[in-house]
Amino acid sequence: LPRALSGIQPTAGSFHLGNYLGAVRQYVALQETHDAFYMVVDLHAITVPQDPAELRANTRLAVAQLLAAGLDPHRCTLFVQSHVPEHAQLGWVMNCITGFGEASRMTQFKDKSAKQGTDRATVGLFTYPILQVADILLYQADAVPVGEDQRQHIELTRDLAERFNGRFGETFTVPAPYIVKEVAKIYDLQDPASKMSKSASTPKGLINLLDEPKVTAKKIKSAVTDTGTEIRFDAAEKPGVSNLLTILSTLSGTSIPDLERGYEGKGYGALKTDLAEVMVDFVTPFRTRTQEYLDDPETLDALLAAGAEKARAVAAETLAQTYDRIGFLPAK
Ligand code: ATP
Ligand code: MG
Repeated sequence: LPRALSGIQPTAGSFHLGNYLGAVRQYVALQETHDAFYMVVDLHAITVPQDPAELRANTRLAVAQLLAAGLDPHRCTLFVQSHVPEHAQLGWVMNCITGFGEASRMTQFKDKSAKQGTDRATVGLFTYPILQVADILLYQADAVPVGEDQRQHIELTRDLAERFNGRFGETFTVPAPYIVKEVAKIYDLQDPASKMSKSASTPKGLINLLDEPKVTAKKIKSAVTDTGTEIRFDAAEKPGVSNLLTILSTLSGTSIPDLERGYEGKGYGALKTDLAEVMVDFVTPFRTRTQEYLDDPETLDALLAAGAEKARAVAAETLAQTYDRIGFLPAK
């Protein structure tokens, strides 16, 4: 089977709708067709300040949400990044073959550091894409399911894999991004020019999967729409309405043209009412399932221990081969 690998940050507690539609939904689908590795990337979370107790709780919460979304530990390898020390180890090697200018071109760092103030941004935030390269290459991944915002980082991964292979001999599989175009970028409901984001969205523009369903419905009803009245998919002219159509289409399984036909002669209010209902039907059982997993932390931790063991077996082999190729003297 081809390999898939992806990770999600435990930064904010709840996953948001962009995470789910852009990434987690694909994680669930790829369990069927790939030897899939999914992890909660706590090493990435500390690139911005974190409270230790919250980080620990949010890590379990992220795992519970992945299970609630449909990951099955019998059909994929689910683990926490810091449980597999090879990530940090290969990350260092990757740092040493990355150009400073090359790393400086990563637009996510530019955006995120501009928001925090460049003096506050950490070196970890700067080099996080390089750690992400290691995350992917350790598992010899073929496919990396992510949202559009990660495309540049997967491109960097491909470049570094090819560079290493060229210098030291075939070592890494060169991965490809697995991006589902329609849902690759879900937008902030209050600011449909920006992506919905854990760290950058306004609370009203961010649909957290673990919000009270009532809150979710309210956020949808107060979503920014566009001038005019027609319900039509047009990302340039009608970004707000188009975003709502994308979400409704994906969650309901109705194509966008069918939705457009159904809303002919109806106003934005009808679209929002329907979407609110579909969302509430989706998040209500999701919240319940997440809570059930959280209520049994022993089982959760045991499952993570098994996942880390499976992950380490693969990661250790790749790291050993990398160390050998690069010329490190083997430890006797
Ligand atoms: P931050 O903005 O702090 O980086 P995030 O919202 O991007 O947080 P991550 O944990 O970094 O959350 O991303 C997890 C996955 O969700 C990634 O594959 C990312 O590409 C995807 N993703 C994030 N936001 C969106 C979005 N608005 N639309 C589609 N996919 C998204
Ligand atoms: Mg992100």
